[in-house]
Amino acid sequence: MRILIIEDEKKVASFIKRGLEQESYAVDVVEDGIEGQHYAEVNEYDAIILDIMLPKKSGLEVLKDLKAAGVKTPVLLLTARDTVEDRVKGLNIGADDYLTKPFAFEELLARLRVLMRRGSHGSPVLKFADLSLDPATRRAKRGDVDVELTVKEYALLEYLLRNPNRVLTRTLIAEHVWDQTFDSETNVVDVYINHLRSKLDTKDFPKRLIHTVRGVGYVLKEE
Ligand code: CA
Repeated sequence: MRILIIEDEKKVASFIKRGLEQESYAVDVVEDGIEGQHYAEVNEYDAIILDIMLPKKSGLEVLKDLKAAGVKTPVLLLTARDTVEDRVKGLNIGADDYLTKPFAFEELLARLRVLMRRGSHGSPVLKFADLSLDPATRRAKRGDVDVELTVKEYALLEYLLRNPNRVLTRTLIAEHVWDQTFDSETNVVDVYINHLRSKLDTKDFPKRLIHTVRGVGYVLKEE
């Protein structure tokens, strides 16, 4: 899952980023409204955390333009001003929820999870063939076998399961599981795919599910 934070207060942004990364999200941070809107339009995010008071372009303006451009990503507004007017305006323009600063990280996380569940992602337990992943317990299962995953393995598997039968390039995977600053020259994606295979796609299972597409990337599919 990949999240965009548009927030100019460095402390707040890095507090959220750190927390989300510990929860295995890939996070991009942008500090002004214009660049934020650009990121939101050109990249695929699962949620956007948007501050209202931003340099160059206000959060409400950004929100309005994103909606006009047809961006469907759920948006959580942040506001320091606890004014009813801003909140009502934001919700009217199409924000999915709002949070008034200061807030506890747990609260933000809970709201984000609700937004993402409400979005296009449907059923909470992700399934493909005899493979399943429960985001609530963060446990993977292949057939009857329970499998422990590390934070990044979890994020990678979640991304594959949300995009079955779709060829995913290394860059796409890296951006969703790591973030924009990820160095695509490294072979970290291949290394983690191998970790997943050694846990979930071994000879002990009836068929292989994670397939290599030579020179391109990977696809989760049943042969
Ligand atoms: Ca701000």
